[in-house]
Amino acid sequence: MKRNILDLTKEELKKELSPSFRANQIYQWIYQKGAKEFEQMSNLPKTMRQELDERFTIAPPTIRNIEQSRDGSKKYLLELQDGHTVESVLLPMKKEERDESGKVIKEARYTVCVSTQVGCKVGCAFCLTAKGGFVRNLTPGEIVGQVLAIKEDNHIPANRRVNIVYMGMGEPLDNLENVAKAVKIFADEHGLSISPRRQTISTSGLAPKIKKLGEMNLGVLLAISLHAVDDELRQRLMPINKAYNIESVIQAVKEFPIDQRKRVMFEYLMIKDLNDDIKSAKKLVKLLHGIKAKVNLIYFNPYPGSPFQRPEEERVKMFQQYLLDHGILCTIRESKGLDISAACGQLKEREHGCAI
Ligand code: SAH
Ligand code: SF4
Repeated sequence: MKRNILDLTKEELKKELSPSFRANQIYQWIYQKGAKEFEQMSNLPKTMRQELDERFTIAPPTIRNIEQSRDGSKKYLLELQDGHTVESVLLPMKKEERDESGKVIKEARYTVCVSTQVGCKVGCAFCLTAKGGFVRNLTPGEIVGQVLAIKEDNHIPANRRVNIVYMGMGEPLDNLENVAKAVKIFADEHGLSISPRRQTISTSGLAPKIKKLGEMNLGVLLAISLHAVDDELRQRLMPINKAYNIESVIQAVKEFPIDQRKRVMFEYLMIKDLNDDIKSAKKLVKLLHGIKAKVNLIYFNPYPGSPFQRPEEERVKMFQQYLLDHGILCTIRESKGLDISAACGQLKEREHGCAI
């Protein structure tokens, strides 16, 4: 069977080719010029194009469904080659700005939220992705391909950089090898040129894998899905906490190499009457002592049959204020895409017949 060329890092592709410098041109064709066929690669010798065509495909996932939110974010259901589906979300961060003559003075900025697995093994109580169980890891090309498909669908120029967050379906650190390859493919200067500093890996807290990711020294940013400040509650919400408790996660974060100018992000899902009180905020301040952290408060996004409720705005604001008053940077995740149920897993669920 032909291999998907998107799965190959530049180093790997070079090993497949002679002469190896052709790998740069192939990357440019695929990632910068949006080539779909080797035949288009006019600066490669014809024999090489034919040989490539015999051995490889260029196969990003295909679009099965799109939901457009009022705030501009778009949620994609993408189909992989074996028919499984995953979700990705395009989040516009800044609008394009033009001067009076209509000339673009500031380009629009985008973030793409990518999936790393079909399903997830971690089984968090609040997460729809967890409900379907685990199916399989995504390959590096299936991760990178999500961004190619979305950029193309939105006519985002191929050479325009976007930010990447590994916050879609799946646990990235449970698929570390392929995620690390995706980071490198995204970052390649002949490809999309997305620096690892524009790529954020979010994890439910697999402490040994955080350590391993740190040792790989990729230069990526780290986000921790914390969601609770005591082990008892965290264990209820996230069974992974039995294996790696809060302390072990915090320890792993403290050892993680990070750019001096950057911060580790802590995601805190706010659930009504469960973790949205000031006592929890107090504990959070203590926990984060000595870490260059930034907290992102996320409203729990309910779905039919979900065991939890969305917190009141006032409580979230109070929680945020407490953190700010104690010197911790804290943002509230805008309800981006709320009307299309932006928490990953929710579009896929609907396709399977669950009306939201
Ligand atoms: N597995 C990784 C990354 C993907 S999860 C992790 O857990 O960090 C993506 C994010 O969506 C996580 O921060 C998770 O807490 C959040 N999420 C899951 N279900 C949600 C829901 N119902 N409402 C709001 N956020 C949710
Ligand atoms: Fe997996 Fe993340 Fe969902 Fe937990 S929140 S089940 S780790 S995808």
